[in-house]
Amino acid sequence: MIRKLFKRVFRRSAKPKVVGRAQVIPFAMHGVACEQISYGAKRVTDGLQAAGYQAFVVGGAVRDLLLDKTPKDFDVATNATPEEVKRVFRRSRIIGRRFRLVHVMFGEELVEVATFRCMTDAEDVQTDEHGRLLRDNEFGDQEQDAARRDFTANALFYDPATQEIHDYHGGYADTRNHILRIIGDPLVRYREDPVRMLRAVRLSAKLGIRIDEVTAAPIAQLKSLLDNVPQARLLDEVLKMLLSGRSVECIKALRSLELHHGLLPLLDVILEQPIGQKFVMLALKNTDERLAQEKPVSPAFLFAALLWHEVLADWERLVKQGERPVGAMHLAMDGVLARQKKKLAIPHRHDAVMKEIWLLQLRFEQRSGQRPYRLLEQPRFRAAFDFLLLRCASNEVDNELGLWWDEFQDASDARREEMLQPATPGTAKKRRRKPRKKPAGQSGGDAGGSANEGGAGE
Ligand code: ATP
Ligand code: MG
Repeated sequence: MIRKLFKRVFRRSAKPKVVGRAQVIPFAMHGVACEQISYGAKRVTDGLQAAGYQAFVVGGAVRDLLLDKTPKDFDVATNATPEEVKRVFRRSRIIGRRFRLVHVMFGEELVEVATFRCMTDAEDVQTDEHGRLLRDNEFGDQEQDAARRDFTANALFYDPATQEIHDYHGGYADTRNHILRIIGDPLVRYREDPVRMLRAVRLSAKLGIRIDEVTAAPIAQLKSLLDNVPQARLLDEVLKMLLSGRSVECIKALRSLELHHGLLPLLDVILEQPIGQKFVMLALKNTDERLAQEKPVSPAFLFAALLWHEVLADWERLVKQGERPVGAMHLAMDGVLARQKKKLAIPHRHDAVMKEIWLLQLRFEQRSGQRPYRLLEQPRFRAAFDFLLLRCASNEVDNELGLWWDEFQDASDARREEMLQPATPGTAKKRRRKPRKKPAGQSGGDAGGSANEGGAGE
């Protein structure tokens, strides 16, 4: 409180100085102390400066500190080349081929050090036919490095030694005023890299700051440029949104900018399924809450949630056609994953966990004999149970099922015995289908080869 008041009084009297084309903002004005910089980043800037180079903390970290948020990581920018950086720090290595960066290790902490780069001159800059930048890896000076960055708030350079911020694009004032503004002409900048449109959405949602009007205006008109971005990079950015801790806001902002439609298959999945929408929004809200509590979240769980209603629809159809539940589930899962793989680029490594979560949903229905005990022992029980709770909360299944499992998990042996249901298949839940008769010619549906897992109603 006193610190804030102190800062405010000081801020009024302090003034930036102009050095070349940069405004240099003194500590008395911005109030970010060098103690707020991570140990490793401070060691890196100190080490490089002692060796005669320029070195600053840059990008997201400076922006986050100005907004009183905790930075995810601290990146350093310098005029030393990667080889020169490597020579200064024993525990370091050069990574990347197109953009060569240096990773410097200090115990647990890894600091990424980038050499100042320039946005190559308009004439010889390499772009594709849509204006997308194909190459921007030429070294440059600090001013050029500021100009190639996306938003003014992301182009601030903090010098831990002097506690000054170097600002070439008015990023300090913008950040203080909670405005996200693109550097330069938005049309040109989005053409160079359409992902910047998505970054605008994510950063404004994540930081709770608004996108400036001029920055936002051309987005609706340029959204089709996202078609030319490789799927893997899009998925990367979409995942960052979903795991930003503000996924619900991100989705809303994407909608209001009309960025979701037909562009990002994963988001189409979310936004264009009327029945699943409540479930998916709950899953995202749940993820945001978990992140706020610093609990782990798994991308596989999120993917499983995003695709669940597609799997469910196929499963119900197959069961209606006479497939047995588990067989139908295998067919539905494989079908949905095959279809989505083509569009979404969901990495294969998540398949096993997604399938387990989906398959276990059938087994929650079985509440007699030994089956509930066996289900509790499944390594994925917890994730599957969390998933079940989302299904309950979205009214897909009866709440009673979630409550039963909630109690059963922690109940005494005696209470568990009491809770078990009679071993007759007469306790179907409202969504359960109980097809018994298989029409001639239908396969056994043993697609995944594990029909012995025991399905609902079997
Ligand atoms: P986060 O907190 O999510 O890490 P960030 O702004 O640090 O946000 P990064 O992806 O880590 O995002 O990028 C680091 C810096 O690199 C940014 O602050 C920005 O200056 C620059 N940058 C990143 N992506 C782009 C881009 N597409 N175009 C121009 N500059 C970019
Ligand atoms: Mg970052």
